[in-house]
Amino acid sequence: MDNDCLFCRIVAGEIPATVVYETETTLAFRDIDPKAPVHILVIPRAHHADVAALAAADPALAADVLAAAGAVAEAEGLSADGYRLIFNTGRFGGQEVFHVHGHVVGGSPLGPMLSIA
Ligand code: 5GP
Ligand code: ZN
Repeated sequence: MDNDCLFCRIVAGEIPATVVYETETTLAFRDIDPKAPVHILVIPRAHHADVAALAAADPALAADVLAAAGAVAEAEGLSADGYRLIFNTGRFGGQEVFHVHGHVVGGSPLGPMLSIA
């Protein structure tokens, strides 16, 4: 665990979160500032900075995160109409928290894939 990492502290129970799904290796909780009717963050319990680092260090755990994202989408009723799974990566990708997380967003049409301001 990284004491300076917000999501490690959520995993440790030091910061509250609305957990919607969990496994031995993953945790999923509602985003504090939702950008869509459903907006859930899916993370590995172990700290890895971003999705590339996770996939390189522990491919089985990366697969667990993807499976958890699918299970969350199913549980939230998103699977039939579809949803988006986003891993913002690095500065240009808009990543703000450097503990890898997939955003599961859906519940209404999401519009174009990108808007570059
Ligand atoms: P990023 O920009 O790194 O891809 O996404 C970080 C996400 O974490 C943002 O969507 C932001 O709203 C969310 N977030 C930041 N702080 C907290 C928090 O304390 N609790 C929860 N549940 N979400 C947070
Ligand atoms: Zn962390």
